[in-house]
Amino acid sequence: MTESGTSEKRFVVDVMMGKLAKWLRVLGFDTRYRRLDRLQTVERFSREGFLILTRSRRWSEHSRVSILSSNDPMDQLREVMARIPVAPGDVRLLHRCIRCNERLSKLARSLALSHVPDYVFETNVSFYHCPKCNKVYWSGSHPRRMIDRLQDELGWSVSMNEQTGG
Ligand SMILES: [Zn+2]
Repeated sequence: MTESGTSEKRFVVDVMMGKLAKWLRVLGFDTRYRRLDRLQTVERFSREGFLILTRSRRWSEHSRVSILSSNDPMDQLREVMARIPVAPGDVRLLHRCIRCNERLSKLARSLALSHVPDYVFETNVSFYHCPKCNKVYWSGSHPRRMIDRLQDELGWSVSMNEQTGG
């Protein structure tokens, strides 16, 4: 009941906007990072329900392409948020790997022990890891600083709880 796969917002971010892609992953959105130099690519992602974010005007006539004007990643994120309604409820922190977009899996505490500093282990209950690159995440780690910044910038209040899981 908590799985809302059908309405999930998904993005393709054109190359040169890597930081925007990371922010969208921090927020838990399925975010592909691709060079969008072929119509074929744009059309395929479009058919799959992705919203395509680019700074190039090349595909401006395509209905699912959103052209961003800003250079700054945070301003780009604001542009995205202004165009598609993203509610704080859509946000799922600690859901995707920031590096590779993979969905994170819960990591047993006993396994986390060897991957994180002692104080982190002592002060966190839950850990997650990326099945692809093995990066370990926890609620107090660097995503938190990102979230703080995001809250400041966008005026959101996003709670850092782990909510429903899956
Ligand atoms: Zn990863």
